[in-house]
Amino acid sequence: MRETVEFRIDEGLAQKFLEPGLGTPLSETLRRVVLPINDKRVQWIGEIQREHRKRGEFFFIYSTRHRYYSKEELETAELLNLVIRAYFEPPGEDFGTEYDESAACTRCGAAAPQVSNLILNTRRIPKGKDIAQTIAGEIVVSPRLVKACREHGLRGADFRPVMHLSRKGPEPSEWSQLVITSKPLKLSARTVSGVNLFDLDKENRYRCPKGHMAGLNQISELYVHRESWDGSDWGRTDKYFGVRGADLRPEPRLLISQKLRQVLVGMKAKGFELEVAHLVKRAALRSA
Ligand SMILES: [Zn+2]
Repeated sequence: MRETVEFRIDEGLAQKFLEPGLGTPLSETLRRVVLPINDKRVQWIGEIQREHRKRGEFFFIYSTRHRYYSKEELETAELLNLVIRAYFEPPGEDFGTEYDESAACTRCGAAAPQVSNLILNTRRIPKGKDIAQTIAGEIVVSPRLVKACREHGLRGADFRPVMHLSRKGPEPSEWSQLVITSKPLKLSARTVSGVNLFDLDKENRYRCPKGHMAGLNQISELYVHRESWDGSDWGRTDKYFGVRGADLRPEPRLLISQKLRQVLVGMKAKGFELEVAHLVKRAALRSA
């Protein structure tokens, strides 16, 4: 596995602090810098960020990791983390999708159950994708993906109707909502989470005392407990990532079996990337 870090940095600050020619401009005001994880300049950018944070400022405004696997690594993984890359808005709530907020955690806002069909402007779903999600974590899948899952007898998910809100009111659409129904997989403490690579949130600002939230962002690959996997092809973590905000809802991570990976690869499904997820054994009980 090869790993890179991507930073988005204000152009003025990039010119002031970074070597000339590092990265590519995304606009007149924003630069994108991608570096191998073990490049010395990653730590250098971390130092500059720390200095800025002390003054309540930001050097980079966004960072993300990209992981690249060999064919063999992907083909031998028992379980994979499906990372959706196709996003759209507005979220379902803007069109009348209902949630039971009274059932959500009062501390972190996680786990409010959706209590109506998902209603969207389905024209906003990115074209040519088989899986995509709103900024509130509502996941839609294409008819051909649903068909493939049914043909192969894949287990662990329901495909529920997605309504399109037209001027006449909600009407059926060709899309389905992906709802994971298998037993949640227990996230292992080996999974690193935090604000970013340089801030692992030691103060637990983005974690919930009741244990729902793993953190704001997933920093490492996913580690889950082997004995918590019921063998389903579709799965999700028990803990959530993200934050409850105006349109934002905390989201679990999606896991898929090798069998499902092969179906997705076979049909050339689009809208996601795959990372290897690790199954760990429960730590041995401590002796007295
Ligand atoms: Zn909570």
